[in-house]
Amino acid sequence: MWKQCYCKKCGRIVPKETDSNWKCDYCNSKVFAVPKEYLMEKFPTILEEDTKEQFINDYIKSSPEFDPDLFERSAEDLDARLKKRERELEIAKKSYERMKKRQRTGSSGYGVKCPYCQSYNTRKIGTFAKAMNAALFGALSISVNSKNFHCNQCGSDF
Ligand SMILES: [Zn+2]
Ligand SMILES: [Zn+2]
Repeated sequence: MWKQCYCKKCGRIVPKETDSNWKCDYCNSKVFAVPKEYLMEKFPTILEEDTKEQFINDYIKSSPEFDPDLFERSAEDLDARLKKRERELEIAKKSYERMKKRQRTGSSGYGVKCPYCQSYNTRKIGTFAKAMNAALFGALSISVNSKNFHCNQCGSDF
């Protein structure tokens, strides 16, 4: 059960799960549940727009713990924090993809997906093998063996 909570210090309004530790995720102060009358009847985790302003005035801005500087900064900071997290995620994702690609390619070096079984456990059919085929069976085998990759998973060439 989620409850809409508010921080008296920085004015952050944030939903919290009951019994979780009720700390502001911005300034780490204790948070309190928003009184029912300020919440939407249908969506009790959303503040009624009409009375939101009033709620902030009555419950946040008038509380002795209220810190106007924090209040001013919180929105901006949280926004910046979110953006930073997004950037970090983006970087993490990219490096993860690079790592996966490297793993995939491994010693066989190509990392092509098998169109039949979707496995990346594939290897390029070496040009050396092709050349050998050509030498042994004549040029014909080049066109016959025009597949470039072999799937180690399902054994098909493609
Ligand atoms: Zn706070
Ligand atoms: Zn396959």
